[in-house]
Amino acid sequence: MPNTIHIPTPLRPFTDKKESVEVTGNTVGELLTDLTTRHDGLKKHLYADDGRLRNFVNVYLNDEDIRYLEREATPVKPGDELSIVPSVAGGAPVTAAPASAEATAGKGAESLPELSQEEIQRYSRHLIMPEVGMDGQRKLKASSVLCIGAGGLGSPAAMYLAAAGVGRIGIVDFDVVDFSNLQRQLLHGTPDVGRSKLESAKDRLRALNPHVEVDTYETLLSSENALDLFAPYDVILDGTDNFPTRYLVNDACVISGKPNAYGSIFRFEGQASVFGVKGGPCYRCLYPEPPPPGLVPSCAEGGVFGVLPGIIGVIQATETIKLMLGVGEPLVGRFLIYDALKMRFRELKLRKDPECPVCGTNPTVTKLIDYEQFCGIRPEPAAQPAGAVANEWDTTPVELKRRMDAGDDVVILDVREPNEYQINRVEGSTLIPLGELPRRYQELDPEREMVVMCKMGGRSAKAVDYLRSVGFTKIKNLRGGVLEWIDTVDPSQPKY
Ligand code: ZN
Repeated sequence: MPNTIHIPTPLRPFTDKKESVEVTGNTVGELLTDLTTRHDGLKKHLYADDGRLRNFVNVYLNDEDIRYLEREATPVKPGDELSIVPSVAGGAPVTAAPASAEATAGKGAESLPELSQEEIQRYSRHLIMPEVGMDGQRKLKASSVLCIGAGGLGSPAAMYLAAAGVGRIGIVDFDVVDFSNLQRQLLHGTPDVGRSKLESAKDRLRALNPHVEVDTYETLLSSENALDLFAPYDVILDGTDNFPTRYLVNDACVISGKPNAYGSIFRFEGQASVFGVKGGPCYRCLYPEPPPPGLVPSCAEGGVFGVLPGIIGVIQATETIKLMLGVGEPLVGRFLIYDALKMRFRELKLRKDPECPVCGTNPTVTKLIDYEQFCGIRPEPAAQPAGAVANEWDTTPVELKRRMDAGDDVVILDVREPNEYQINRVEGSTLIPLGELPRRYQELDPEREMVVMCKMGGRSAKAVDYLRSVGFTKIKNLRGGVLEWIDTVDPSQPKY
């Protein structure tokens, strides 16, 4: 009887889209070797150059975390199932009586705020349940939560928290509402496009429940401001969409002793947990190191199923409210994975890592660090004026158009996915998605000049690096991608 390895969404491009692969072997290591023999493209994602399994790849045997055993030597029985769970950018917390529950749940009833007649009416369906009741509702009124981001996860979370009567909701964001947000970010409506997300969020939450205080912080969360921003709140709700902020939120929560209601989303798959609770693990116990930049696509690159953040954001809100009330079993030490396509929830056990650099016995990270650098992200180059060429490997849409019009022989290689190519494209371009390039680059002629393009220029820059590494020299990256092509050359096409 063969064994099964479950493949997470971000790695499925390397298994011909298969969700699980049948393999054989006697140990975890042998199963993984069999997997990477069958699907060679996975190797660089799972293993570092020195041959060890990468740190941000977690392997579970029959839903048990095997990170702390000799994981590759771990024996397997016929029929055992392995799951590979890599970190994804979209975010959450873990265990027993949480810190915030101590903070609010421990408050004597006499120190809790009273409810007005109107509030009693509004919360009547809570008040008649013994798990909430008058005291519980007053605890919620005395509680506060800071939502990091007013986007896909922050929207449903903040709306349910406001409706439930959490006394004070803070939101950190600096973005403006865009049409492409409306497919999932229900805090914002069509008339809000172009407005600040914070203003739009505040209006929506006040309309839902005027008894709730809404604090807004129009700023980028940073190592300089995180601890000050977190200080006045009981629970932090992580709705971020990038790794530097995710590690920053985690470390700031552990350092300041605040629970972190974590949620994360990618395409059809979501994750949730509760980190940073005394005695429970943190995000770094799960993923000590971030994936190399670019290995895991963002929602902007990979897409996200519109209803998915609704599910995950509401799970985050649920955990936040349970922490505030001190009821139920928090999602501490448990990692919830939700697959919307299969409509299946799985729960994996999470252990606190005694060696964790932040929450372990001898922490080495005791103050906030530079998280961009930690995640290997180079600072953005200074903005170039439109039409300027940044370096010899770059070109611009205007320059490309000029050469096409002059009849020059230039191959245009588009490295986006076929469904993106359906939306807009440069006529006459060749489509080879970035993930297929390593096995298909021989289809291209290195003797001809080539311009590589994608949506915004990020994936195509990687493609240029890769093609250079296999001997192509006459190649340039189309800076700004198809979006800048539409802005400066062909405004007749739709943007996404
Ligand atoms: Zn930890």
